[in-house]
Amino acid sequence: MRVELLTVGDELLLGDTINGNAAWLGRRLAERGVEVTRGVVVGDGLDEIIQAVGEALGRADAVITTGGLGPTSDDLTRDALAAAAGVALVRDPELERRLRERVAAAGRTLQPMALRMADVPEGARVLANSAGSAPGLRVELPDGPVYALPGVPFEMRTIMDEVVLPELAERAGLPAVARRTLRTAGLWESVVAARLASVEAMPGVTLAYLPDRSEVRVRVTAAGEKPSELLGEAEAQVRELLGDALYGAEDETLDRVVHRLLAERGATVATAESLTGGLIGAELTKMPGSSATYLGGVVSYATELKHRLLGVDEALLAKEGAVHPDVARQMAEGVRDRLGAVYGVAVTGVAGPEPQDGRPVGTVYVSVAGPGKAFCVTRPRLPVPGTGEESRAALRRMTVVHALDLLRRVLLGLDAEPGAEDAQKDREESG
Ligand code: ATP
Ligand code: MG
Repeated sequence: MRVELLTVGDELLLGDTINGNAAWLGRRLAERGVEVTRGVVVGDGLDEIIQAVGEALGRADAVITTGGLGPTSDDLTRDALAAAAGVALVRDPELERRLRERVAAAGRTLQPMALRMADVPEGARVLANSAGSAPGLRVELPDGPVYALPGVPFEMRTIMDEVVLPELAERAGLPAVARRTLRTAGLWESVVAARLASVEAMPGVTLAYLPDRSEVRVRVTAAGEKPSELLGEAEAQVRELLGDALYGAEDETLDRVVHRLLAERGATVATAESLTGGLIGAELTKMPGSSATYLGGVVSYATELKHRLLGVDEALLAKEGAVHPDVARQMAEGVRDRLGAVYGVAVTGVAGPEPQDGRPVGTVYVSVAGPGKAFCVTRPRLPVPGTGEESRAALRRMTVVHALDLLRRVLLGLDAEPGAEDAQKDREESG
């Protein structure tokens, strides 16, 4: 089974939109064992699309297109496919009904042009779009099928996963698979991989590691007779081997997990940020309903404000500078106290590119103050990938992950691992 990708849109050629659809489709198909042999980009021209589809089917067994299925006059993919098949566009009454329903539900009136989205090449199959209004289409041409998907990435992915991928896999005679993504924080990719070696050795199970700044997602794929059961076994093993470094699955991001844990305890959090400049607050306000758990924060970038707004000891700042574990601890306690939150989260560190107060770039202290005591995790020298702005951004992002993860650990009573040793050492060092 050889598949070609045809992404349609002037914006792709002009560089206004990065071709994320092609990248995502390529990854998805490869993971599933379907070979992608070519990817082509064309603009919004009827003849260009017709020609490109014809050429692609001359080489491959199936073609997937994205884009040009919307309601505007530059959306020409459905017209091109009708022309290539030598058929007319006909209005699909069921699509029209659903379109009118959606528009009415949104309190809008239907623009006549929008009805184009209910037109399909005669004989084409409609691929239901549970994520939006433009459906996908499957058009059978003499040389093979064309799967036409909308350009909007979320809608494209939904139809791909729900309809196209299972169908292509079946045509290719690939075994059924079940898949789940598990999320970890605070472990290196190599450490995660080493711990999971025995799972990787399970017949029918494959693991993909998707690292992103101090977080590693592990995608578990199980293939065989009973993929769901095999996946269940593999997941249980992964959970056991990764222990409390595993914080969630699928789209349960760290901010969501923290929000849930706080909400379950009826607790609130406030933030005191230096090198992250508000990024932790931004993360904690991502979710609708976050006002129930997040009170607010202080961005105390200047050293003096750490004293004035958060009550950090002036003598300590004078002696040690702003980048010190006790400063982080006092910032967390200060913001907790002054904002009246149950937990205070604070970070201070050197994002670079220049060292600060004699501390090298990548020195970061993360602290969480709770009802009991203040915890502090030292991250002496987070790795500094890239240079200049790139490394600054990476360090700041890593610091956000470490802060949210420490809060998660404290909320779960996991302070012993892995931060406690560091915290203990800090306390000893600072007497
Ligand atoms: P719509 O119903 O929204 O008009 P469509 O099928 O006509 O969908 P386009 O108009 O081509 O799709 O694109 C809609 C949006 O989807 C674009 O604004 C762009 O942001 C995004 N998009 C389109 N093609 C791609 C692509 N190849 N990669 C990433 N994003 C894309
Ligand atoms: Mg469009």
